Amino acid sequence: MSTPKILILGAGYGGLVTALGLQRKLNYNEAEVTLVNKHTYHFITTWLHEPAAGTSSTEHVRVELDKVIDMKKINFIKGTVESIQPDDRTVTLADGQVLSYDTLVIGLGSEPETFGIEGLKENAFSIRSINAVRQIRDHIEYMFAKYKNDPSRTDYLTFVVGGAGFTGIEFCGELGDRIPELCEEYDVDPDLVKVYNIEAAPTALPGFDPDLIDYAMDVLTRKGIEFKINTPIKQCTKEGVLLATGEEIKAATVIWTGGVRGNSIVEKSGFEVMRGRVKVDEYLHAPGYDNVYVVGDCALIFNPEGRPYPPTAQISVQEGEYLGESLVAKLRDEVVYPFKPELLGSLASLGKGEGMGKVGNKKVYGSTAVLMKKASDLRYLYKIGGVGLALKKVKL
Ligand code: FAD
Ligand code: NAD
Repeated sequence: MSTPKILILGAGYGGLVTALGLQRKLNYNEAEVTLVNKHTYHFITTWLHEPAAGTSSTEHVRVELDKVIDMKKINFIKGTVESIQPDDRTVTLADGQVLSYDTLVIGLGSEPETFGIEGLKENAFSIRSINAVRQIRDHIEYMFAKYKNDPSRTDYLTFVVGGAGFTGIEFCGELGDRIPELCEEYDVDPDLVKVYNIEAAPTALPGFDPDLIDYAMDVLTRKGIEFKINTPIKQCTKEGVLLATGEEIKAATVIWTGGVRGNSIVEKSGFEVMRGRVKVDEYLHAPGYDNVYVVGDCALIFNPEGRPYPPTAQISVQEGEYLGESLVAKLRDEVVYPFKPELLGSLASLGKGEGMGKVGNKKVYGSTAVLMKKASDLRYLYKIGGVGLALKKVKL
């Protein structure tokens, strides 16, 4: 009998943790595991708002895959997935390679959800990868340089963050810290700089705890962020944004943090999706395929009340850990238990030394929240790269 082939698409939280689980548990020749990823590195998506604002480096959020994966046990392919043919059990890469598999794990992450809002795709940035955040950081700085050469253009100093979910809030926290530095470096009067965080729903962080929302908004307001709540963005142009209220904000920088959907490759490959995400069963199977598993932001799972779990790193990691065990159990004809997610809480950073969140039922604020977030980051980095990686990346 030939060695079974397990193919993992994407080395994000879900895909990488699955691969590491298999690397640890599989015996020699029990299966041939291949991991395909666009880049030779994994990135810590949960920190991307920092290099986007320029408060940390892209180097800091990047983890080279050969430092965490044993390339003798996992066959790594740097490649871009173009399509999946589940009925043929093959995957096609952009360079024309066709990979076959017996078992497939899809962990291709997310894309910005633009809800068809005119001009967003063309004119707004989004915080989605190392390359994307490099562009945001450089663009923000360039706007300060441009303003100094044409002080009539105050729109160069106007920044719109569209959406006050966790990504928007965390990014505003960093931008609030970065703007004073840029003002000093470029000799710009801080009063001329405007940062708007615009939210369609009646509150920032819709559905989150009201005390924590108030705390976050208060911290960010003190950092100079102006909120426009209950104010949907209707259109984005080269000149700025048009709001549902009819107001136009002239801004040379629009960063869209209005939500995500699953990677469009999954839908294009014929899987049934809701907002780009595959509604998987309790074993993380894609419907109709007992050899195809979906993890992370591409997967949609529901809580016991029938509400979808939000796409988070927390759940993605748990799914990866689950598959790392259940795929081995399946190969060995052992009992495979269903996946049971466990929500541990949500913690958001609000810039230097500030944060807030909920751990279990306990609300945490300020430096306590920062410490707890660091502890959770340490745990993740330890999981993927041991003590060395954790201590290298997390500043205590
Ligand atoms: P990802 O981690 O996005 O990885 C997808 C991988 O697939 C990447 O390596 C990518 O390069 C690769 N890939 C994509 N397309 C292709 C292709 N065509 N071919 C080959 N490879 C491809 N969640 C939390 O729980 N806590 C937080 O504090 C938190 N903070 C966040 C902060 C920010 C700024 C953002 C943007 C998100 C945050 N999230 C947080 C959400 C969390 O990051 C995501 O839910 C998580 O990254 C999803 O993991 P994933 O494995 O599905 O995909
Ligand atoms: P989100 O969907 O959580 O938030 C998007 C926000 O944009 C919403 O509040 C929505 O009402 C708003 N919005 C949508 N359309 C709009 C419009 N036309 N005009 C203005 N506002 C509009 O998306 P996100 O913040 O990118 O987060 C994505 C996922 O990642 C979520 O599951 C989130 O929990 C997770 N995440 C977690 C953390 C953390 O735990 N610290 C940080 C970032 C992201």
